[in-house]
Amino acid sequence: MVRYFSLTFIIVCLYSCSPRYTHIVDEDFVYDEPSDDLMKQLESLPATTMIPDRIKTIRMAFHFFNNEEGTINFKEDKGQEVVSILLDVANKRMHANDKMKLPLGNDTPVYDTHIRYKLYRSEEGRAIFYHSDPSPPYFYKKSKKSNIYDRDVVNEYAFKPDSILNVLILPFDPEYLQNGKERAELTGVALGTSIKLPGLFQSGRPVWDYAGNFNHEVGHVLGLRHAWSKYDHCNDTPIHDNCWKETQHPPCDHTTSNNLMDYNAHQSAITPCQIEKMHATLSNPNQRASGLVIENRCSKQQGISEISSWIKWIQPVVIDKDIVIKTDGLLLLGDEVSFASGVSIKIEKGGTLVIKSTTLGGSCGPWGGIYKHPKGLVFGLSSSLIKI
Ligand SMILES: [Zn+2]
Repeated sequence: MVRYFSLTFIIVCLYSCSPRYTHIVDEDFVYDEPSDDLMKQLESLPATTMIPDRIKTIRMAFHFFNNEEGTINFKEDKGQEVVSILLDVANKRMHANDKMKLPLGNDTPVYDTHIRYKLYRSEEGRAIFYHSDPSPPYFYKKSKKSNIYDRDVVNEYAFKPDSILNVLILPFDPEYLQNGKERAELTGVALGTSIKLPGLFQSGRPVWDYAGNFNHEVGHVLGLRHAWSKYDHCNDTPIHDNCWKETQHPPCDHTTSNNLMDYNAHQSAITPCQIEKMHATLSNPNQRASGLVIENRCSKQQGISEISSWIKWIQPVVIDKDIVIKTDGLLLLGDEVSFASGVSIKIEKGGTLVIKSTTLGGSCGPWGGIYKHPKGLVFGLSSSLIKI
């Protein structure tokens, strides 16, 4: 009799005891605001670092500018090798990121940036262009002819700049190098989605030596600012004297920076905040640089992100995996969060979702909406329009 009862209970339970999730898809589903107590806690909760798992690969094109004799820049027999070395070393640095030297004793985590470069290849071949001219465009930095920010050469030569990051390897004026008005120093500039990188050939330095400089300029293209001042909006990049390297003399007679966005001999450490900012730029359709990424930022990834602690995502980010909010887990989503197509949020018993947004969804088209357990919670900090 007891056995019969148990079996019946199990069979009945299969049909009626599993929780029934509400699928929230209504276009204007207005939620209650959280309690004052919860609001206070959420305000003081720092934003959670969000570095997407999926690697973003940027399309690249290169241009070598030379005189007619071919004596001031790499020629076709060498250009391919130069590009391969530069991209290879730059990619390795984006993967094997260094630990920050400053501030002293820091415990700043070290992450793979999950950003890479790939030379664009069309039916016509690899995107490496050789421009030969009796009077090629020169790069002037120090002299009166300084044309660092001049965009003419970019406007004239950049190849598909809305979808390809163009690197212009420019020569310095050989006359100016000879009379000392210019120096073939490590330098560069980012202009929109293009980079001017001068003097690789004339400096005689090994090509790999330019990888830090190259990544620095890409950092600018992806929205990073110089890190030694307070204006880069990253708490993990301290203010300092921007020394090139340690010397015997103040203010550089102590440990100096190795951050990518400072002027230093290493340029090898990229902080979590900087990585987040680069991804945010690449994920934001309003930013021109977002067009440089090869992969479709709106496609859904396999797997699930489980949330069992308190997480606050208020920075621009594309969530590309289904989310499950577990018991005691809380997820706060801000205005700038988007969802890849079909991604959904499931709130299990005891899980909480807080929406601090006027529109939840983003620019990737239909997403999967919210599945809520009867004992899961959803709060809106304003009227939430859920677009799926
Ligand atoms: Zn810079």
